[in-house]
Amino acid sequence: NIANPLTARGNDLTHIIETDRAHIWHHLLQHKALETTDPRIIVEGKGIRVWDAAGREFIDAVSGGVWTVNVGYGRESIANAVRDQLIQMNYFAQSAGSIPGSLFAEALLDKMPGLSRIYYANSGSEANEKVFKMVRQISARHHGGKKWKILYRERDYHGTTLANLAACGQPERAALYGPLPAGFVEVPHCLEYRKQWDVEDYGRRAADAIEEVILREGPDEVGLLCLEPITAGGGVITPPEGYWERVQEICKKYNILLHIDEVVCGLGRTGEWFGYQNFDIKPDFVTMAKGVASGYAAISCMVTTEAVFDQFKDDPSDPLSYFRDISTFGGCAAGPAAALENMRIIIDEDLLGNTKRMGARLTANLKALMEKHEVIGDVRGIGLFQGAELVADRKTKEPVDEKLAQKVVAECSAQGVIIGVTNRSLPGMNNTLCLSPALIATADDIDAITNAIDVALTRVFG
Ligand code: PMP
Repeated sequence: NIANPLTARGNDLTHIIETDRAHIWHHLLQHKALETTDPRIIVEGKGIRVWDAAGREFIDAVSGGVWTVNVGYGRESIANAVRDQLIQMNYFAQSAGSIPGSLFAEALLDKMPGLSRIYYANSGSEANEKVFKMVRQISARHHGGKKWKILYRERDYHGTTLANLAACGQPERAALYGPLPAGFVEVPHCLEYRKQWDVEDYGRRAADAIEEVILREGPDEVGLLCLEPITAGGGVITPPEGYWERVQEICKKYNILLHIDEVVCGLGRTGEWFGYQNFDIKPDFVTMAKGVASGYAAISCMVTTEAVFDQFKDDPSDPLSYFRDISTFGGCAAGPAAALENMRIIIDEDLLGNTKRMGARLTANLKALMEKHEVIGDVRGIGLFQGAELVADRKTKEPVDEKLAQKVVAECSAQGVIIGVTNRSLPGMNNTLCLSPALIATADDIDAITNAIDVALTRVFG
């Protein structure tokens, strides 16, 4: 008996919950917990708000849980753009092009000076894998097998596949899945709040640590440096002043390609089109996914320079000269159709400006909470991408117990506000509250979010 899920909304949600309990393997969940509580089932969304199966209303301060629904829920114009496109032409492999594929490329690349080629795929992980594969191919074809190593940073995350786990700076995520691909090497994180070097010019020092790794590994062996512009799940880490300037210098000096993973920051999250545009960076690769179509379609993009692109057409008679890669659903036209309309909304509604203004308000509110609650040790982030790290002791910076951080999240949820907490792995990774409401958030929404956190912190910590 196949029912239209929409008719279930007012009907038999008990059945939906029982079916979920019987058959759904949820992402990121220890399922033992669901033996005593109901799974959360979200049935509707509008603007910044969502409703669950019990009819409870929530302000979603995490844009779909993982920084995704940038333009908010219930956007009919995106649904219509996707619908119209699917009726006209839903799919053809990307060995051929499409109308929305071309139009979105033109609109997007206009915001990314210096970059000129786009490769469509489906997930952030997949886009990142494309970069890793391209670097390996450039190594094999143009550097005699040298320049094959890929540097990634402690605490950063790039995705779920084995290569992305080899590039994962959050050890618990990768722990059980080895052996992982070789040639991925970690560089230290740059979180000044948890200093690794006692120096004034912290940003420069943290970037110098990358050079130390390059010299240890051999500059001729290192082909790529892959970084999040602002580390997301690893603790919402904005690199300190001076960091990016030095990173850029180092990449130039050793002829290392720079890959910025914009899967979280891309499409406005920080108040700029891309996180890297808050700093003076000229990347060779940029990957993006979540906010590209705000969750209305599954699309990711790998964007690069003409100089990289040109290295894949050197010898047309050689079957190994080009990029022998395909993403089947990178050819689904729903993706770029949704992405084009998503981008139009960001421009027409000045969501970059709103993100800057509301981001400043969120920072101010969180800093005020920090005055009141000893447990907040640090407030970080840019725009509507912020974190508040919770510590048991401000002096020692000992992180609060992970369960207490989870309790704060639960106390916010009890007040009708969904917030997040970063993933467990290391201190500073499992105790940072995560706030990333849709870019349409109003001043009232921001205040409601921080008021709920205020009450939750009082309930949990007194
Ligand atoms: N990069 C970053 C920075 C991410 O946060 C994520 C997902 N949380 C990914 C890549 C992977 O994206 P996806 O889940 O779409 O594969």
